[in-house]
Amino acid sequence: MPAETIPHATQSSPDDGRDRPVDGRDPAPGYRSRTIGNRTLHPETQMMRYGYAPELSEGAVKAPVFLTSTFVFQSAEEGRALFDLTAGRSKPRHSDESSLVYSRFNNPNFEMLEDRVALYEGAEAACVFASGMGAISTLFWTFLRPGDVVLHSTPLYGGTETLILNTLTEYGIVSVSCADGMDRAVVMAAADAAAAKGPVSLVFAETPANPTNSLVDLGLFTEAVERIEAAQGKRPVLAVDNTLLGPLYQKPLAHGADVVVYSLTKYVGGHSDLIAGGAAGCRPTIDAMRRMRGALGTQLDAHSCWMLLRSLETLSLRMDKASRNADAVAGFLSQHPKVEAVNHLGLIDESDPRHAVYRKQCDGSGSTFSFTVTGGERAAFDLLNKLRVIKLAVSLGGTESLACHPASTTHSGVAEETRLAIGITSGLVRLSVGIEHPDDLIADLGLALAGV
Ligand code: PLP
Repeated sequence: MPAETIPHATQSSPDDGRDRPVDGRDPAPGYRSRTIGNRTLHPETQMMRYGYAPELSEGAVKAPVFLTSTFVFQSAEEGRALFDLTAGRSKPRHSDESSLVYSRFNNPNFEMLEDRVALYEGAEAACVFASGMGAISTLFWTFLRPGDVVLHSTPLYGGTETLILNTLTEYGIVSVSCADGMDRAVVMAAADAAAAKGPVSLVFAETPANPTNSLVDLGLFTEAVERIEAAQGKRPVLAVDNTLLGPLYQKPLAHGADVVVYSLTKYVGGHSDLIAGGAAGCRPTIDAMRRMRGALGTQLDAHSCWMLLRSLETLSLRMDKASRNADAVAGFLSQHPKVEAVNHLGLIDESDPRHAVYRKQCDGSGSTFSFTVTGGERAAFDLLNKLRVIKLAVSLGGTESLACHPASTTHSGVAEETRLAIGITSGLVRLSVGIEHPDDLIADLGLALAGV
């Protein structure tokens, strides 16, 4: 495909169905349309088409991988104009204009993937990163400066917790944790404590949290952001890690979040064969993160973008099947005499105050949850060592079921006292339920528990 026929525009804003000429070139008609007739197409349908015009790539049904580090300019003037646009020195002529100059900044495979992630999330724009931690660290670099304060929920994924507690502190960035994201008094007290320590630039929530499935009431966190804004005169950015349920079962942007971050390694990638991250939100926020991504070099590679485009086509099938399997497995575990507690969202009783927040914020319970085996670490290790179908590995959201012991693996970098306070005990086992036959998973767990 000649380079000049590459569509030079992203389509991450809610679209009116029209295509616009960009840089003097006309993209193929309809390649970014969201409707047919009066009907708005569902994301499941759009994952097979949105943002890609086969006629611009020799009729290939699937997009090529643009394995190129750099892009040819038509003239020196165009080179300057595109660099000005990339660096934010000039404004795009319309909201969809972007530039292709160098693959650390942009690449057609980024554009297609970012368009589709934004569309699924219901966001204006998205950008993708080399890993979930690449997305989270770029978020921190974009919005936090020495002396600033970050208010965050607990528990957090171990890597995020370690980055906040160990690394950000070395740069003079203070953190305040909110011990219970469901209790108004606790959330407001944490907001006041954060504002008392300095300018709060970022409020970060992980909900449901890995590995305990603790929920954060995003209504309360939005209220906390407004309270801080009233106190300091500047609104902090509200970011939500949507890895465990998004984009199918939870849309934090509709509940007050300014930006969502992802480990795309998990459900979106879905096959445990790549590492990637993402962020989605309003255009100015994403533009700022994209510029920081270019400065830091935390961008994703074109091949992983292509793999993720393929994964997105089956995302709803995989997540729905895994979620049904998880319901069955959690139901089995909750009845087992050697299991003390099962942290599965689908098991929250209607009388539990968490139920209303779950119903309000989530459209499904997902397939990652933890449970406590009676007998502490020895019992948990015995169980894990006896599993035959479920693999013993960290990570989650893949087609295969995985089990791990968070206290000694994913959260081993978190101080023991903090770990215990947030419910990561020695008998806790995390399960990421895959798409196998649920009866085989239940049999595997049943046999392993019998030997504990
Ligand atoms: N956020 C959550 C909730 C996670 O579970 C993980 C990884 O397990 C991350 C972020 C980090 O993602 P990555 O491993 O892709 O950097």
